[in-house]
Amino acid sequence: MAAPVGAQARKLLRDLVLRPPLLAARSQVVQLTSRRWLNLQEYQSKKLMSDNGVKVQRFFVADTANEALEAAKRLNAKEIVLKAQILAGGRGKGVFSSGLKGGVHLTKDPKVVGQLAKQMIGYNLATKQTPKEGVKVKKVMVAEALDISRETYLAILMDRSCNGPVLVGSPQGGVDIEEVAASNPELIFKEQIDIIEGIKDSQAQRMAENLGFLGPLKNQAADQIKKLYNLFLKIDATQVEVNPFGETPEGQVVCFDAKINFDDNAEFRQKDIFAMDDKSENEPIENEAARYDLKYIGLDGNIACFVNGAGLAMATCDIIFLNGGKPANFLDLGGGVKESQVYQAFKLLTADPKVEAILVNIFGGIVNCAIIANGITKACRELELKVPLVVRLEAHRWYKKRKQPEFVPQAIAPA
Ligand code: GDP
Ligand code: MN
Repeated sequence: MAAPVGAQARKLLRDLVLRPPLLAARSQVVQLTSRRWLNLQEYQSKKLMSDNGVKVQRFFVADTANEALEAAKRLNAKEIVLKAQILAGGRGKGVFSSGLKGGVHLTKDPKVVGQLAKQMIGYNLATKQTPKEGVKVKKVMVAEALDISRETYLAILMDRSCNGPVLVGSPQGGVDIEEVAASNPELIFKEQIDIIEGIKDSQAQRMAENLGFLGPLKNQAADQIKKLYNLFLKIDATQVEVNPFGETPEGQVVCFDAKINFDDNAEFRQKDIFAMDDKSENEPIENEAARYDLKYIGLDGNIACFVNGAGLAMATCDIIFLNGGKPANFLDLGGGVKESQVYQAFKLLTADPKVEAILVNIFGGIVNCAIIANGITKACRELELKVPLVVRLEAHRWYKKRKQPEFVPQAIAPA
């Protein structure tokens, strides 16, 4: 499972603030923060997969240890696999705040499922892809375990450099695919797919062969690959990642794990999928910001930043850092901002108890400073600002040449 982009962006930003700026990482941060992505839990992705003919294990989802126990009994399986549901990968090797090691457990005894679930639900699970303190587990997946004789890796993703979808696979799956790519690049196979013509039988067959599926398994794997590609197209995914894409001793090809990312621009035609959006792992303040279409990422410092444009927002974080301070957030107002959004942004910043000062840094090239100024004065009047506020509004020449009749300066506090 790949890290959800939101968490990845947060981690990158935290790293950037703690270290001197890294130019290479910076453009990535700007890209990552310029959009919000839909995140689904593994069980939701697997439901989509099984509804579309992709082979996954039988499973139930549980919110409590008791439900997990009941689910394990109901499955009536030879062996059960219990999996913590969080939006990050590397769960197998993760550690819970309860002390329990491993976010994925196999057992033959339903009672043990109950005992393990008790040490998972309500506790934080920390993996290589989560923040240090981990992410709280609210649900577990209780599935029929299958023996795995071989673990391969399969992903389908939109690749900018190919102008379309690409199949990526490796016979060396189950493990960190970045490590395989670094140590054995010859074990990574790619098939570029023509989005108009769709996936060709020969491409699916070649990938199945490269993944090491032999005999009748080759056709089965190719069929699963085609079904995964059709699902990828149907649901407007930007990435479908299956690691492990495995083989059982009984001769079945099964998707043992699932991570799907979606194209937010397709929300209008994928309403059912977007309704499943699990925002519970976002910080509440980030969800609130998203409601007003503001790009907000919480950081650990105490100086709130209020900036337009991701580049200037990054530079402002750097300036604060270079002067010995620490930013409390990354907030990009963007262009085309409305006065009400400015007000809401201010409301978010002032509600944060960490914030000891607010720095507004606005470049009027993409936004009219009058809108910002009016929003700020309204917010200051209504929100009883208690922390120092430093404002820099620099208008672009284009704006300077024109009159800005909308802005009538008024006293913030009555004399
Ligand atoms: P991740 O660690 O978050 O990527 O979680 P995965 O779902 O990939 O599970 C981690 C590992 O647990 C897999 O690579 C498998 O080796 C193992 N695993 C998961 N499900 C099963 C199962 O049904 N049977 C067996 N034998 N192993 C499993
Ligand atoms: Mn996995």
